[in-house]
Amino acid sequence: MAIEERPPKDVQCQCGNILRVERVRDWCTQCGRAVYHDPKDQRRHKINNIYMMALVLAAFTVLGWIFIEMIASPMLRLQ
Ligand SMILES: [Zn+2]
Repeated sequence: MAIEERPPKDVQCQCGNILRVERVRDWCTQCGRAVYHDPKDQRRHKINNIYMMALVLAAFTVLGWIFIEMIASPMLRLQ
């Protein structure tokens, strides 16, 4: 995507490997971790990930609750 292109910049990965990043996000050739052109982007992506995880967790909680309410408790009442 053209929008994601950035001027080339050397960024040090968490593993110590330095690589040239020309996009918002690239992957380290040594450890495979995501490397961000701008540390601000990394933080934003992290927050996005946490937000997504929270959403997934909430969805599973609701599903678990529905399962218990709809399936498990009627079965327990039958015994
Ligand atoms: Zn690395």
